[in-house]
Amino acid sequence: MTPRVMIVEDEEALGLLLRYNLEAEGYAVEVVTRGDDAEMRLLETVPDLLLLDWMLPGISGIELCRRLRARDATRTLPVIMLTARGEEQERIRGLATGADDYVVKPFSVPELMARVRAMLRRSKPEVIASLLKAGDIELDRETHRVRRSGRELHLGPTEFRLLEYLMKSPGRVFSREQLLDGVWGRDVYVDERTVDVHIGRLRKAVNRGRVKDPIRTVRGSGYSFDDQFAMA
Ligand code: CA
Repeated sequence: MTPRVMIVEDEEALGLLLRYNLEAEGYAVEVVTRGDDAEMRLLETVPDLLLLDWMLPGISGIELCRRLRARDATRTLPVIMLTARGEEQERIRGLATGADDYVVKPFSVPELMARVRAMLRRSKPEVIASLLKAGDIELDRETHRVRRSGRELHLGPTEFRLLEYLMKSPGRVFSREQLLDGVWGRDVYVDERTVDVHIGRLRKAVNRGRVKDPIRTVRGSGYSFDDQFAMA
């Protein structure tokens, strides 16, 4: 079951960034850029979660949220509000209107992804798989444990997130820049070579004495979790 997320955001670049990251996490994503369009769309279909910008053309996020709470079909729809800095009063109003959570722009994408996952785990545990499996590797997102052939691997926090990120999309090649955005977060300025360092550590921890390397280096492009390995 693929969890469905609707984004209502009129800043095109932000909408794209969120879509990209949510799709990489395995969600089905729809982006709507106006409040009134979102209201119409939500009459037709109700997603598993709504990311709702505050300031929108058509009707505002806050008004849309209030209306959604008044309808049976969307009364319990999880809503995360995206608010601009300095809208403290509005945030309080937002929560009072029935938003379940809010993040302040500019936010860290990995943090928002974690909030989305946490909220879905509460509201729809059946759509969030906590265990990722590929070949003889098992990664548990709840307990943060990783096993290979049943034996526990000891990964640092960054290596864990890196492995989790790659394992979610076997076969997909991520550039170093994409990995930095998805694993370290957009606001963190680190050199792209940092990715290589952590990939090296991850490989060392995962492959200890083994021949089969699940991580593929794609020359000139980046890295991916080997889908051949995932099939094995
Ligand atoms: Ca806006």
